[in-house]
Amino acid sequence: MPLILAPTPLHRLDRLSDRIGLDLWIKRDDLTGFGGGGNKGRKLEYLLGDALAQGAEVVVTCGALQSNFIRQLAAACAVCGIRCAAATMALPYEYARPTESGLAATGGNVLLDEILGADLRVYPDATWDELFAHANDLAEEYRTAGKQVLTIPIGGSCARGAYGFVQAGAELQAQGDPFDWVVFASSSGSTHTGLQYALHGTKTRVLGVACDPEPDILDDYAELYASLEALVGERRNMRRQAWRLNFDFVGPGYGVPSREGAAATELLARIEGIFLDPVYSAKAFAGLLALVEAGEIAGRVLFWHTGGFPTLFATPSKL
Ligand SMILES: *Cc1c(COP(=O)(O)O)cnc(C)c1O
Repeated sequence: MPLILAPTPLHRLDRLSDRIGLDLWIKRDDLTGFGGGGNKGRKLEYLLGDALAQGAEVVVTCGALQSNFIRQLAAACAVCGIRCAAATMALPYEYARPTESGLAATGGNVLLDEILGADLRVYPDATWDELFAHANDLAEEYRTAGKQVLTIPIGGSCARGAYGFVQAGAELQAQGDPFDWVVFASSSGSTHTGLQYALHGTKTRVLGVACDPEPDILDDYAELYASLEALVGERRNMRRQAWRLNFDFVGPGYGVPSREGAAATELLARIEGIFLDPVYSAKAFAGLLALVEAGEIAGRVLFWHTGGFPTLFATPSKL
């Protein structure tokens, strides 16, 4: 289902490259041109194609209340004439709720979801597993009402969603010389998995900067990778140790802005006029800057901007 404007722009960050002594480029998936932009549009072309083929009347998913995925899904469903329903929590967590505050419960993506007509259900903060259970109940509610329901996993991270990023990797390769590093914010894993698959065996090192504090998330990535191999029908074996997912820049927790991220956001805005988001891309960009400083990343480097701009308007205060 065609939704986005691709290829997204790829350009050099000349001023910042001079400042930090690097050949730094940016891939503008903040400018995918649909539903407010962001990386989820790539996955949704395949997910909505499937939903339409199945004759779905309702698509049910889940996520944090200020989810960029739910916003882009709500837009995709709207243009396809499908109802979008989502189970949400302000700040879902794995083990314990972070003590720092997350994003506001109004404005930002929530405002856009309302404009798009999504059925947003908000539950009290609890674990991710409890959120997934609410999503199942929500799907059941629509089924009981006689609707044809398709459930889509969090972040659109299933084989089809990841396939959108296999295509994105091919898009990048067609845009010019290969990079030494590709760095991006990673969470539900289909961005990372798709790019890893696409760039496997090339000189480009694929580095995700984690936005969730749980190292176990790599089990999910490995599972997703296997399902992607099955979908594509070609194995590109990936050893567990070969994944590059850095957990050092999560900050206070998933969904909670970090000081380093706020500083990185100001730097990129003031030197290049480009905005990051507090939950994902700011943390990834802070990670990139720190790893360059530490000499761990060098050469021709690409920052893959995954979008998320609307949550800047739900960020409670300047850190
Ligand atoms: C969803 C999202 C990510 C993470 O992508 P995954 O494929 O879920 O890992 C990164 N940045 C932004 C802005 C996002 O909305």
